[in-house]
Amino acid sequence: MQLVSTSGALVAGVYSGAVSVMSLLQHGDIGLGTFANLDGEMVVLDGHAYQIQGSGRVSEPPADAQAPFAVVTKFSPETDARIGPIEDFGELEKRCDVLRTSGNIFYAFRLDGTFKRIRTRAVNPPEAGARLLDAAKAQSEFHFTDVPGSLVGLWSPGFSSAFSVAGYHFHFLSDDRQEGGHLLDLASESLRLRMEALTDFHLALPETESFLKADLSKNTADELAYAESAH
Ligand SMILES: [Zn+2]
Repeated sequence: MQLVSTSGALVAGVYSGAVSVMSLLQHGDIGLGTFANLDGEMVVLDGHAYQIQGSGRVSEPPADAQAPFAVVTKFSPETDARIGPIEDFGELEKRCDVLRTSGNIFYAFRLDGTFKRIRTRAVNPPEAGARLLDAAKAQSEFHFTDVPGSLVGLWSPGFSSAFSVAGYHFHFLSDDRQEGGHLLDLASESLRLRMEALTDFHLALPETESFLKADLSKNTADELAYAESAH
């Protein structure tokens, strides 16, 4: 797996692009992230990148579109299971917990099926210099019902919170590529779940001026947890 930049840099307001979509797709076929200036959520699925903007618009960004934070992997799942019914996010977490054999490595997830109910959000570009906490307040929320689609997810161990999003982090994309976003809640009768344990971790740090000069000495895990969760 390849992670570009750090979640701590995002929290500190480093939103300028560090890597192109083209480069990300060379390192993985599924993944998630965000776009330069926090212009929406990223989903990488089946080797294509998608951008879900705060307006709700979903599109395939140009190959030179930039991402300040992303994680991708060449997915080769070793677990293929069926789960459900799932009534909410907490239940999804519990079902995934049962399948993980360790709390000290990373896991990639892909879930496919029909979502009876799904709630997502997409960030809007914040004012210049805003911290992630303030940017999160400008997010748009979406509610979809009876939509077939896929969730791409990553589970990261607690010790990685300085550079990754600890715990579960899922992004959604509908089969018709018209709806998506950062997952806040869901319900589904039945989902196909595929999972891969990830122990080979590559962290690519940006060489951008804003990253090199940012003060990343503070522990931002709490701010990140708040910005990433449903509230
Ligand atoms: Zn997200």
